[in-house]
Amino acid sequence: MTALLSVRGLTRSYYGVQALRGVDFDVAAGTITALIGPNGAGKTTAFQCISGVVPPDGGQVVFGGMDITGWRADRVTGAGLTRTFQIARGISRLSVLDNLMLYAADQPGERLATALLGGGRAAEEAARVRAVEVARRLNLLHVANNPAAALSGGQKKLLEIGRALMASPRMILLDEPIAGVNPSLAEEIAEHLRGLRDDGITFLVIEHHMDLIARLCDPVIVMAEGRRLTEGSFSQIAANPEVQEAYMGSRTWA
Ligand code: ATP
Repeated sequence: MTALLSVRGLTRSYYGVQALRGVDFDVAAGTITALIGPNGAGKTTAFQCISGVVPPDGGQVVFGGMDITGWRADRVTGAGLTRTFQIARGISRLSVLDNLMLYAADQPGERLATALLGGGRAAEEAARVRAVEVARRLNLLHVANNPAAALSGGQKKLLEIGRALMASPRMILLDEPIAGVNPSLAEEIAEHLRGLRDDGITFLVIEHHMDLIARLCDPVIVMAEGRRLTEGSFSQIAANPEVQEAYMGSRTWA
């Protein structure tokens, strides 16, 4: 197995609460890997530490053979690893295309250089071309000029994925890709994710819908109390008494 992402001994506390107590896991290139666990297991914190939103207290994150521990989010994105973010209320008035263009891969240094060289227009045009390409890829072209706020729940989720794609990443951390989406659109989103995986993008997915995980993800990593509890195929982890016990009293296991 070639690990694209390796997490070793990751720790993080918030005001004395140990959200991560030394997490270890690998994500193999070319997989759609699930990261599941009961509420409070530390999944979101793991995403934040990997993607550079918050620094870990300890441990190591290696991506594509590079030690990216503690790197800030824009640098992590520049290295080819990015994550989805919910569409904030303020920018939901912007069109789908503008939302995509906001996430075009240009670092502050490059932006300054293009401005000094008078290349701003060219950079904007390149971002527009990429945005159209991404919108087409996700079946959003027919709503490209609509405000993001007017999209259906499923289309908003696709737009979140689209914004991540703007940076042409090798790997995307996906936070609840079908939360609040009706079942037929959920299957459409799953189909897009499979297509993107076939194009070479690796995914690590936090999701609470077990039926989607069963159909989409392999392997499944289970976290509990800030650590990795176990890992395996969906049927292996579903049959594991330790996993069932970890979920006791949690609302999330279907
Ligand atoms: P859920 O499935 O409910 O989203 P999770 O597995 O993503 O849970 P985290 O959100 O990472 O878990 O939370 C792990 C622990 O860290 C919890 O006890 C949580 O209350 C705490 N925690 C997370 N973020 C913060 C924060 N910003 N400030 C204080 N405590 C936090």
